[in-house]
Amino acid sequence: MGELTIRFLGTSARHPLPRWGCDCPQCSHARTDPGGVRSRPSILVNQRVLVDPGPDIYRQLAVLPPEELTAIRDIVITHPHADHYLGLDDLAQLRQMLNLEQLPVWAQFDSWTLILVTFNYLVSHELDPGQGTERPYVRRDMTLGQSFEPYEGLSFTPFDTFHTNTFTTAGLVIEQNDLRVVYAPTSYDSAFWGVTESDLLILDGTFLNGDQSSNQPESGEEYGRHLPIVEGVRFAQATRAQRTLFTHIGHIQVAPEELRTYLPDDAFDVASDGQVVELPA
Ligand SMILES: [Zn+2]
Ligand SMILES: [Zn+2]
Ligand SMILES: [Zn+2]
Repeated sequence: MGELTIRFLGTSARHPLPRWGCDCPQCSHARTDPGGVRSRPSILVNQRVLVDPGPDIYRQLAVLPPEELTAIRDIVITHPHADHYLGLDDLAQLRQMLNLEQLPVWAQFDSWTLILVTFNYLVSHELDPGQGTERPYVRRDMTLGQSFEPYEGLSFTPFDTFHTNTFTTAGLVIEQNDLRVVYAPTSYDSAFWGVTESDLLILDGTFLNGDQSSNQPESGEEYGRHLPIVEGVRFAQATRAQRTLFTHIGHIQVAPEELRTYLPDDAFDVASDGQVVELPA
């Protein structure tokens, strides 16, 4: 197996950027530079495993060539906040269109409780022996600390990011041979991750610093807690990450050049929609 590939389908937090009616430096930049436009957070791993099909998934996947659409085989959901799973219904069309087998959806037990409230009609609890004529997805439970392999050679290990109290939110350690990517788009407490020396660390960019996170409604309990970017930088340095990208970018209201001043060196950057990162084997 060769390189490990991460495609960022979307890189915003709960709401897209630019925000309606806002002329802050961040939103103004996004209106003149497409690189500043962000849709809801999602990644595609090795063209095959789709993490967090959010409400923008239909349009995000529409730009892919058909052969890349047909390569998608597994779905992973980190947690059941709207921006991370509401695309499941749109994504079901993928399987109809391509006449694929049922797609496994990996989520934690307490995520499933909420996902099924909305999407019970899409999910089988066992693989449908009749080639999935009924429902497009088959339920797969993932458990914190327990690795699973969507296919041989690529493993995912979920860990608790302490983003939420009412249900568990997973970060993901994604490993292939000696390569390790950590995807934690919504993360709060980093104390117990036990994750070191990742080749690529992808962290929460909802807030820039502690001032922002205490002043914005998105820090409220209902929508979860987020480690600010300035603290994410410290975490990345302490765990000796080779490279760090921030995603799940919130309404931080600063232009890209100002944001850069918070990032210590070239090992740090902000991901953008459509960006593809290839990690060589
Ligand atoms: Zn989110
Ligand atoms: Zn704005
Ligand atoms: Zn969330």
